[in-house]
Amino acid sequence: MKGRLWLFLPLALFSLSGLMCSRVSAAEPAAGETERIRAIVKEVLREYAATLGEKQASPAAKEIMRNLVQDNAQFVRSHGPAHFSHFVDGQHPRATVVTCSDSRVHIHALDASPDGDLFMVRNIGNQISSNEGSVEYGVHHLHTPVLLIVGHSACGAIKAASGDYSAESAPIRRELDTLQVPRGEAGMGSVRLNVNNQVRHAMSKFEEAVLSGKLTVVGAVYDFRNELAKGQGKLSIVNVNGETDPMKISKLDLMQGLDVPPRKGAKPAGSAASMHH
Ligand SMILES: [Zn+2]
Repeated sequence: MKGRLWLFLPLALFSLSGLMCSRVSAAEPAAGETERIRAIVKEVLREYAATLGEKQASPAAKEIMRNLVQDNAQFVRSHGPAHFSHFVDGQHPRATVVTCSDSRVHIHALDASPDGDLFMVRNIGNQISSNEGSVEYGVHHLHTPVLLIVGHSACGAIKAASGDYSAESAPIRRELDTLQVPRGEAGMGSVRLNVNNQVRHAMSKFEEAVLSGKLTVVGAVYDFRNELAKGQGKLSIVNVNGETDPMKISKLDLMQGLDVPPRKGAKPAGSAASMHH
């Protein structure tokens, strides 16, 4: 495998030397020539990466991929065409949801039938900035009436952002920079603060949609550790269109009847399912 790299390296070097010569003979290398060299170097690196990939396939990776493929096969077996019929030709999600990438936070905690129903944007620290285009897509193109931002207990991104993260890579630093939380405060207070900051960001970004009533921005905290003593796995709504006072939130029309369990098999009006039947 290493032989392939040695085959491509001289070719790349030869091409590079060609570029150097053209630099000498002409004032500037032709743009096309530079592109050609870039393409060759990219090809060499791709070849090299491919040889590394073969070496690095660990037994753990193999086992993980086997499990995923098996689970997917089970999914295919257990879901007939009826399951896919209401979204196979397009999506009409009811909410754009921004959550943390944390593996302990998952969609089934929020929605019993999320397929075609929730437009998910995930990143570290459930923030708008690092995936602004995706959030815009949900709100402006899919027209979801709700933008839900979900923080969670024991968030590693919040912990990192409240500490010294100067040794992290530039891309990670960039994403932590946007989480404005106090130094040394990694707990639920900072998780909430970040959710409130994200709601504020979303409201100024989608001001028109919020003011016209087309969009409601909701901030929530998913508490899988029961730190708020409201039940393990409880989703607590902490912000509605900028309102953070629990008493005032509880009186909002939006909040009335939320805790009443729905009739079995019933989907609220405007759901993805009812839109297509
Ligand atoms: Zn997190």
